[in-house]
Amino acid sequence: MHYSLRKKILVTGGAGFIGSHLCRDLLKEGHEVLCVDNFFTGSRDNLRDLVQHPLFEIVRHDITQPLHVETDEIYNLACPASPVHYQFDPVQTTKVCVNGAINMLGLAKRTGARILQASTSEVYGDPEVRPQREDYWGRVNPVGPRACYDEAKRCAETLFFDYRRQHGLPIKVARIFNTYGPRMQPNDGRVISNFVVQALQGQPLTIYGSGEQTRSFCYVDDMVKGLKRLMQTGEDFTGPINLGNPQEISMLELARQIIRKAGSSARIVHREAPEDDPKQRQPDICMATEKLGWSATVSLEEGLEKTISWFREWRGVGYV
Ligand code: NAD
Ligand code: UDP
Ligand code: UDP
Repeated sequence: MHYSLRKKILVTGGAGFIGSHLCRDLLKEGHEVLCVDNFFTGSRDNLRDLVQHPLFEIVRHDITQPLHVETDEIYNLACPASPVHYQFDPVQTTKVCVNGAINMLGLAKRTGARILQASTSEVYGDPEVRPQREDYWGRVNPVGPRACYDEAKRCAETLFFDYRRQHGLPIKVARIFNTYGPRMQPNDGRVISNFVVQALQGQPLTIYGSGEQTRSFCYVDDMVKGLKRLMQTGEDFTGPINLGNPQEISMLELARQIIRKAGSSARIVHREAPEDDPKQRQPDICMATEKLGWSATVSLEEGLEKTISWFREWRGVGYV
């Protein structure tokens, strides 16, 4: 890339699951990438192949504290995404989303950088409509155990739009639906990593509740493409915009598929359903198709195969 086209890009949460894929991709395009992470759920291991890269830098930093760096673009991904991790220290989760957003917006304001927020389908809560469109305002319990994440992510969206209204910032808000793929931590607690590790180890797959609840899973390569496309849209386009794969599946069917694809003989067991667990989730991605020319291209079947082989080969999660 000609140096005049090279951007300085800050990725907060860059050592996490989605962030590490994004950093790798942006470096491949020839940009300079600064990864800022406090390693709460992310790890240096996710970036092992990048540490020697001359255009890559990692800084250990908690974004609830001010950060003074120079940058052209900010992808604000820092925040634990798995319910187990975001409920571990709920007050910190709210601080990361809210105080972290204020700091990153302050940074964008000072540097004139474009800033993209990794929001979430959780802003829709336990939705009464299906699929969920961006103009649906959601149904969130403000005092439940998921609120530290859901409400804080909603507040972060508010802050993004107020910084735009008040200070004219070039903002982009992506509502990310469940994403999976290589580099999820085996102990992350999310459903696909749990099921894959359990199936490969011949342990029972733990379904929370009846297993009739649904999710729609997007392969991480598709997600990274969507986030980058969003960042490249014209200044007048802000979102919020759904990014996800509309292929919806129940947790019971997901468990069966993973057992089959892993060639496992593991059983299925049921555990108590978590409080406020959304019963359904499916993105309407008309806006993404129209505004970004984007839709997910990797089917769940194909993505699961890639993910299972990665856990088997790279994480060494073999059969017991
Ligand atoms: P992840 O937990 O793997 O990554 C989050 C990263 O943020 C980790 O590296 C973690 O160490 C870092 N982090 C946490 N608190 C921080 C702080 N205070 N300062 C600096 N770094 C901090 O999660 P992920 O799946 O990669 O998710 C990335 C983003 O996308 C999150 O904002 C999440 O809310 C959003 N998102 C993800 C999904 C999904 O299914 N993966 C769905 C919706 C939204
Ligand atoms: N901030 C930051 N880096 C910067 C500029 C600002 O972390 O390069 C933080 C700053 O500490 C402040 C927050 O961003 O707490 C919001 O900044 P803003 O300029 O919007 O508000 P103010 O400084 O007036 O409170
Ligand atoms: N889930 C499950 N077994 C697990 C982990 C999760 O049945 O081992 C369920 C969980 O209750 C939820 C769905 O799978 O209904 C997706 O959970 P995840 O934590 O991956 O994401 P989120 O709830 O944030 O969509």
